[in-house]
Amino acid sequence: MTQRRISTILESSDESYKCTHCRAFESYDLDQVVSHCETCDQMPRPNKYKQRFVCILCDYGGYQRSQIKGHLFTHKGLRPYRCDYCGYASARNSDLLKHVRMKHGAGGAPPDFE
Ligand SMILES: [Zn+2]
Ligand SMILES: [Zn+2]
Ligand SMILES: [Zn+2]
Repeated sequence: MTQRRISTILESSDESYKCTHCRAFESYDLDQVVSHCETCDQMPRPNKYKQRFVCILCDYGGYQRSQIKGHLFTHKGLRPYRCDYCGYASARNSDLLKHVRMKHGAGGAPPDFE
């Protein structure tokens, strides 16, 4: 019985994370990135509690590891909604539906352009 470890899109991404605050840090490893979010001394932390973890890509701050992790996903452009017809993917279901309607005319109805 083998259990497959399902890695997230983020973990399997081949793009590295670079810290825009110190410009010295770069890693592919999300846990290392989160650790850096806590330790980088170039990050703006006006509130040590609210900005315990600061995003390496912007000024977003969070007190909990899970908060900053979730935030980092947004930068990766995590797009769980994928088009069945082409390679398009979107972060929001509504965007995907719009795409399918515009590009593929889902439902058989032509786009209502004149
Ligand atoms: Zn840094
Ligand atoms: Zn950010
Ligand atoms: Zn498509």
